[in-house]
Amino acid sequence: MNLLQGLDAPEPLIVTLNRSAAIDPGRVIARMRYAHPLHDHATLAAQARRHEIQGRRRSWFAGAYWGYGFHEDGIRSARAVVQALDPQAVPA
Ligand SMILES: Cc1cc2nc3c(=O)[nH]c(=O)nc-3n(C[C@H](O)[C@H](O)[C@H](O)COP(=O)(O)OP(=O)(O)OC[C@H]3O[C@@H](n4cnc5c(N)ncnc54)[C@H](O)[C@@H]3O)c2cc1C
Repeated sequence: MNLLQGLDAPEPLIVTLNRSAAIDPGRVIARMRYAHPLHDHATLAAQARRHEIQGRRRSWFAGAYWGYGFHEDGIRSARAVVQALDPQAVPA
């Protein structure tokens, strides 16, 4: 995390999703619980209506929620917004 977040810490700060039982509890700074968004039929139905809100009242929406919820989906949705605003700005 030091490099990724630009943290100026004397020791390496590490995030893991795995093998938490193998870590000395005295070295754990924080435990956090996250849930990945659940993509179901309602999600697909809402995604199919994107055109109804996109660009209305000068508002554009970008986020991983437009896809499967992963990094690539966030990038793809942002790219689509840029392309809609200026088709020349994004190479095909
Ligand atoms: C534990 C975990 C592991 C993951 N691992 C991977 C992985 O390995 N690979 C991968 O591709 N994806 C992974 N993901 C998914 C990845 O985190 C998401 O794809 C990505 O963060 C989504 O980016 P985003 O910008 O769409 O949304 P977010 O990163 O959720 O950003 C949304 C932002 O909007 C802010 N916000 C929310 N509501 C409001 C409001 N009303 N007003 C103002 N601000 C608001 C939030 O605070 C947040 O900063 C992981 C997710 C989790 C939780």
